[in-house]
Amino acid sequence: MTVVTISVTEAGAALAQRLPYRHEHGDLGDRVRRLWPEVDGLVLVCATGIAVRVIAPLLGDKHEDPAVVCVDDGGRWAIALAGGHHGANALATEVASLLGAEAVVTTATDSADLPALDMLPGFRCAGDVAAVTRAWLDGSPPTVDASDLPHWPLPAALMSALSVGGPGGAVVVTDRVVPEAAGTVVLQPESLVVGVGSSSGAEAGGIAELLAGALAEAGLSRDAVGLVASVDLKRGEPGIVALAAELGVELRTFPADVLAGQDVPTPSDVVAQAVGTPSVAEAAALVAAGPGAQLVVPKRRSSEATVAIARRRRPEGHLAVVGLGPGDAAFRAPAAAAAVRRAEVVIGYDLYVDLASDLLAPHHEVVRSPIGAEADRCHDALRRAAEGRHVALVCSGDPGVFAMASLVCELAPHHGNPPLTIVPGVTAAHAAAAVLGAPLGHDHAAISLSDLLTPWEVIERRLQAVAEGDMVVSFYNPRSQRRTWQLPRALEFLARHRPPACPAAVVTDVGRTGKEHVLRTTVAELDPTSVGMLSLVVVGSSTTRWIGSRMVTPRGYKAEPESAP
Ligand code: SAH
Repeated sequence: MTVVTISVTEAGAALAQRLPYRHEHGDLGDRVRRLWPEVDGLVLVCATGIAVRVIAPLLGDKHEDPAVVCVDDGGRWAIALAGGHHGANALATEVASLLGAEAVVTTATDSADLPALDMLPGFRCAGDVAAVTRAWLDGSPPTVDASDLPHWPLPAALMSALSVGGPGGAVVVTDRVVPEAAGTVVLQPESLVVGVGSSSGAEAGGIAELLAGALAEAGLSRDAVGLVASVDLKRGEPGIVALAAELGVELRTFPADVLAGQDVPTPSDVVAQAVGTPSVAEAAALVAAGPGAQLVVPKRRSSEATVAIARRRRPEGHLAVVGLGPGDAAFRAPAAAAAVRRAEVVIGYDLYVDLASDLLAPHHEVVRSPIGAEADRCHDALRRAAEGRHVALVCSGDPGVFAMASLVCELAPHHGNPPLTIVPGVTAAHAAAAVLGAPLGHDHAAISLSDLLTPWEVIERRLQAVAEGDMVVSFYNPRSQRRTWQLPRALEFLARHRPPACPAAVVTDVGRTGKEHVLRTTVAELDPTSVGMLSLVVVGSSTTRWIGSRMVTPRGYKAEPESAP
C-alpha cells in the first residue's frame, strides 16, 4: 500500500515526519491532484474543510479512490475522511496509534458494531451493499442463502447478527453466477479448484477457452476459482502456468502416485501409461480441494488439454503466528498488522490481544486465552485453521523468540499441517538494546531464566557458556512473583566471571509510551527487586562500556576522531 503524507505548515511537517510514509510538503491542491491516481492512501495534515474542498472534485468510484485521512495540526485527531471501507478506517487507526491521537471513524457499520459486508475476509462482495446495510442498520438483518455452500463457515459476527432480527435484504453465499438484483448482496468465496492436464506445449488460450466453457456450462463464476492444480510433471508447463497467472491464483501440483490414489469418475489407461496416474485433471482438482470436495464439472477435453472443476466443502484455512512487537504500534511491522486485519479469528493471551486492539474490527472473532494455557492456545489455533478458518495467533515481540511459533510448528502435523505463516516482530531484546544504545553490537546470547520448562541445571550450563564465551546476554523472563531466586543466582554467577563494574541494565515495558523505564547499573549492583515480569535484563561483556548514558559493545572498528584534512 502506497501512502503519502502531505503537510502545509511547519507543525504539520513535524507530525508527518513521525509517520512511516512518504512525505511531501507544500501546496496541498497540486500535490493531491497529482498523487490521486497513483496512491492507495493520503494522509493530509490540515483542517477538514480544506481537505474536503481539495478532494471533492476528484472523488469518483469509492472502490478506486485512495483512502483519505485528515490529521489536525495539533496531532489530536486522525479522521477517516473518505474510502472508509477501502482502507481509510484502518489507515486512520494506524495513524492515530502512531501519533498517540484519537481515530475518528464514522462508517455506520463500525459504530453499530456490524461487520461491513464488502470487507469480509475471504469473500468477494458484489451487489446492493448500500441497501442491504441500510436495512440492517435500521434493525432488519438480511436473510442468508448459503444453499450452494452449506458447509462454508460464515463470519461469527454475521451469523450472530443474523439470528437477532427480521429479514431486510438478502445475502447469497455462492460460487455461481448470480444476476444482480436490488436488495441483494452476493458473497463469493474462492471455493472452486480447477484441475488441468495438457500435452506438452499446449497453448494457454486453448486451455482458458476449455475452462470458460466448463464454467459456463455449470453456471459457475470464474471469480470463485481459487486454485489451479495439476501433476508435478506439469509444474513448469507454460500453458498451465499462464492459466494460473491469468486467473491470479496459485498453481499447486501433486506427485503422480498421490493422484493415482484418488477415486475419479473418468480414469484413463492411456493417461496412466503416459503419466503414471489414470487421472490428472479430476484427481488434481479433488486432491487439491481437500476432504469432502465434490466434483462439480467432470473432465472436459480438447485435443491438447483436460480440465475438471471441484468445489471445496470448506475453505482452506490458514494460521499466521504473528509477532506484535514489544508494545506500541510504532514498533509493529506492517506485515503483522496486515495479518491480523486479514484474519477472521484472533487468538492470544489477553495482554497480547490488547496490543492488537487497534486492529480489531466487528468481523473478527476474538479468543482471549489465559496465561499458562499455551498448548491449548496453539491446538485451538491449529484446529480452527484446519477447519478452514483464517486465524492469527498473536504473540508479543517476535513469535519465534520464547513464544508460540516453535510449539505451533511441533503441533501442526497433528492437525494435518494447515498452511502456516510466521510473521516476525521486534523482540524485546532488540527494542531494549535500541533504548540503551548498542549493547548487542558484538556477539550476544538470549537466555530465558524461566525454569518452568527448562531445568535450572541446563540454564546454568548455558550461563557458564556465555561467561566463558564473554558474550553479552539478555535475560528474558528474569523474574516473576513466584520465580525470585533465579535472577540473583544468574547475576552472581556472571559477576564471578566479569569485572564488578561490567555494565548491566534493566529495561521495563520497552516500547510502551508512558510506561517505559530504564535502570542503568552494573552486574554487581543490579537490584533484582527492580525487575518485573515485563523487564528485560542486559548484562555486558568485558568490552561493553558506558559512553555517556549509552551502553555500547564495540564491534572493533577504530573509533578515533577524524584526522584533520
Ligand atoms: N516473544 C517475546 C518474548 C516473550 S517471553 C519477544 O520476542 O520479545 C516474555 C518476556 O519477554 C518477559 O518476561 C520480558 O522479559 C520480555 N519482554 C516482553 N515484552 C517486553 C517489554 N515490552 N519490555 C521488556 N521486556 C519485555
